[in-house]
Amino acid sequence: YAPMPGYMPLRQVIADVIQKSYGRAVNPESEITITAGGTEALFASISAFISQGDEVIIFDPSYDSYGPSVRLNGGVPVYVNLTPPDFNIPWDKVRSVITSRTRMIIVNTPHNPCGTILSRADHFSLLEICREHNILVLSDEVYERLIYDGAKHESVLSDPEFEPYAIAVYSFGKTFHVTGWKSGYAVATPRLTAEIRKTHQFINFSVNAPVQHAIAGYMSDPAHYSELGSFYQQKRDYFLSQLEGSPFEPLPCKGSYFQLVSYKGKFDESDVDLAKRLTVQHKLASIPVSVFYKDGSDYSLLRFCFAKKMETLAAAGEILRKL
Ligand code: PMP
Repeated sequence: YAPMPGYMPLRQVIADVIQKSYGRAVNPESEITITAGGTEALFASISAFISQGDEVIIFDPSYDSYGPSVRLNGGVPVYVNLTPPDFNIPWDKVRSVITSRTRMIIVNTPHNPCGTILSRADHFSLLEICREHNILVLSDEVYERLIYDGAKHESVLSDPEFEPYAIAVYSFGKTFHVTGWKSGYAVATPRLTAEIRKTHQFINFSVNAPVQHAIAGYMSDPAHYSELGSFYQQKRDYFLSQLEGSPFEPLPCKGSYFQLVSYKGKFDESDVDLAKRLTVQHKLASIPVSVFYKDGSDYSLLRFCFAKKMETLAAAGEILRKL
């Protein structure tokens, strides 16, 4: 087995990359834990801090593991709705749902499925709330490198004032094109990390050792991640060019590898029915955005993933323009 918190040379490389990227000096011994993907980092963090009756604020729509992970630990998800086209966080609404049981807020930037990113102003509001009410932030930053048009990723690790409150979650799967390797990590102060490791120890104990050795070698060369933004921006822009002349209207995609498209006024069917029709009749897969909403809100949006070869994106464009 690899050590419970992770293979030390890998934790050391991660600490170096964090220092370069976000300017925070992280101690690899006590502040980084290697997990079985971002999903386990999220689950271990939620299990560590959430118990019966604790409330967790989750933005809706969201990555589908947040709500179930909170409920499995006896917690109560409290959803705050985000709406197209910009999916901005209504911070006044967030304040209005805080109670004495609110323990955590889960944020995700860049965002799956919306392709939005948090701004400095969002972080300012978030920090103010955490301080005022002593609430933890679970910051899902698995798409940290997939950010476009010269924008900067707002990481909780860049701001020392977040340190007492924030846990940041990452995935090697997204950064190194190895989703199937199911490996990631959680970063937090020693006080928070000690709690996360108590649950990680009995969820997974330790993570696949050969994978950790491989990633440690790969990650020490910054070229692999420093060019990721422009690599995916080209794919996004190519996919957008392929959508021209189709019935689909793209929404802004500032980060992640997801492009939302609206078909409002073009087709009458539900997003689930349209996604099924595209898959079954045209062999083109998308995800209906309503499935990311707890109440199934349908805004006539589909989510396409552009982490594909250019010829696959061209083939998709050909199908979409003929609809
Ligand atoms: N968070 C978000 C927002 C994701 O989209 C994903 C993967 N789809 C994860 C976490 C999980 O990452 P991993 O595959 O490393 O568990």
